Amino acid sequence: MAKIGINIATGSLQQAEMIVGIDLGTTNSLVAIIHPETKQPVALREFNTSSLVPSIVHFDEFGNPTVGEVARQFLELDPQRTIFSAKRLMGKSYKDIQDNAGYFAYKVIDDNTESLVKVQVGDQFFSPIELSSFILKELKQRAEHILKTPVTKAVITVPAYFNDAQRQATRDAGKLAGLDVMRIVNEPTAASLAYGLGLKADQEATIAVYDLGGGTFDVSILQISNGIFEVLSTNGDTYLGGDDLDRAIMQFWMQAGGITMEDLKQHQALAQGLRLKAEEAKKHLSSHDRFSTDWNGEVLSITKTEFEGLIAPLIAKTIDCCGRALADAKLTADKIDTIVMVGGSTRVPAVKEAVSAFFGKPVNDSVNPDEVVALGAAIQADILAGNNKDFLLLDITPLSLGIETMGGLMDVLVPRNAKIPTSVGRQYTTHVDGQGSMRISVYQGERDLVKDNRKLAEFNLTGIPGMPAGLPKVEVQFLIDADGILIVKAKELRSGVEQSIEVKPQFGLTDEEVEQMLLDSLTNAKQDMVTRALVEARTEGEQILAVTEKFISKNQSLLTQSELVDTAAAMQALQMALTMEDKNLIQSKIEELNEISRPFAERAMDQAVSGALKGKSI
Ligand code: AMP
Repeated sequence: MAKIGINIATGSLQQAEMIVGIDLGTTNSLVAIIHPETKQPVALREFNTSSLVPSIVHFDEFGNPTVGEVARQFLELDPQRTIFSAKRLMGKSYKDIQDNAGYFAYKVIDDNTESLVKVQVGDQFFSPIELSSFILKELKQRAEHILKTPVTKAVITVPAYFNDAQRQATRDAGKLAGLDVMRIVNEPTAASLAYGLGLKADQEATIAVYDLGGGTFDVSILQISNGIFEVLSTNGDTYLGGDDLDRAIMQFWMQAGGITMEDLKQHQALAQGLRLKAEEAKKHLSSHDRFSTDWNGEVLSITKTEFEGLIAPLIAKTIDCCGRALADAKLTADKIDTIVMVGGSTRVPAVKEAVSAFFGKPVNDSVNPDEVVALGAAIQADILAGNNKDFLLLDITPLSLGIETMGGLMDVLVPRNAKIPTSVGRQYTTHVDGQGSMRISVYQGERDLVKDNRKLAEFNLTGIPGMPAGLPKVEVQFLIDADGILIVKAKELRSGVEQSIEVKPQFGLTDEEVEQMLLDSLTNAKQDMVTRALVEARTEGEQILAVTEKFISKNQSLLTQSELVDTAAAMQALQMALTMEDKNLIQSKIEELNEISRPFAERAMDQAVSGALKGKSI
């Protein structure tokens, strides 16, 4: 297993190098580094500007993206082409987000399946990974501009509750932006590091991290011992944040001035103006007792006491979440040693007071709450770069490990740089009715197609009882022990049949070969992503055709003549599209077929339709 860093830019092996820390946030993102001279973490900013880059992507009519402050101006002007909160879509299917679909002002494709969501802008389709990669690319470019040096390596933070798919999606976004993602770190862990917690080897502590941002709230309870952070519990509300505080002030003023929602709906610009005034008031009240302004000739004012009355129920909600997080961690408030505040909204004094009262001790708020996560990511990056000699790096996997899925795609189970020992499991399913065996092919490497990676082993899981496609649940498990030996197990969960194999992942690979594989993955990232998107669209298209065909032959009587004709036409159009190298065309034909088939599929409530599309198939 590798312990040394490889400089991809120069091709040299070295111990010390610049790795940036990135906080890829729902509302704002930023980059931080350890300053080479002061050795202190700093957020990068262009002269006289904010370090925060709004996590917003706007596409012009030709599909060219712009990111950040410029894109933000289009939120109201061009809502269908202005993508905000892409982080909320990472690793999610439409089913995961459908209850909140109204939140997104742009078009999230409703395909009624469990495959990953896509966003439609004009005639282009984007995955949340691509959208996030635009943000990361902008951050990378800014950092390079400020630092006057190429930036190719990063530590990126994610919420503690992100699952495996969401973490992998974040890694992929980094790769697509031309970044070698050295480590994915939990946001609360990063925030704790920024306060120096966990940096001493013998430190033991229990920490609560309270993170109230622009649109989301979460609280995490962490335990540090021997320099290792463990997340004991998380809780929160993914639709509660500073925006709700602004809305409370807006409503207060609307009531006072007899303004209705209807009035505002008719005057988009007025509504936007009022929202900005409300946010200004909120920020002002963090350090003053009253706020007063002119709005179209009217005086709007609010006192701190009034504001605190308005937001008391919202703060109480966050405190309830803290209580639940403690209960899940099987702890009481007095067992928490340190409370760390994260997110711009924790600047509100009433928030700090409520949190401090709940835990019975003062909170840590000395580090800028907007920057604290990125600063911690920079500290983690510095440790990985080998600059912090007090820290021993744990053994890591030098290349990603995964298996082949439909269409020859690489599905990574253990990402490169994962700490070992480790164990990861993921479920797969079959793609043909009655499929009795499944070939598990294990690969090592960073490319999207297995043909470009290195095959390590292969075996057949046989004896799967005959079931319709999509029904078997095959759990594939990768276990890597402390010596770097990989054991791959596959088990069909309904029948219990299982099979396993042992591999030595790095066998026969020199450092130079590992390095070459990394270089290839970065140079080919864009093309790989295009190919992967095309293969995935084709696989999805083929599955939908198969399922629709099966459905129609079974349920013909439920369909009207015109439905049958329309469906046949849409199927034919999709079939044609599958022969071309155009994923946007395939996606739009899938979408058209879905539009036509949705009403009768719902009518028949056929489980097979949704059931057969669950999970990746092999
Ligand atoms: P974040 O997602 O962490 O960037 O949080 C941004 C949120 O913090 C927005 O809702 C801002 O309005 C809010 N915010 C920024 N500064 C202040 C302040 N001084 N007082 C209260 N809220 C603030």
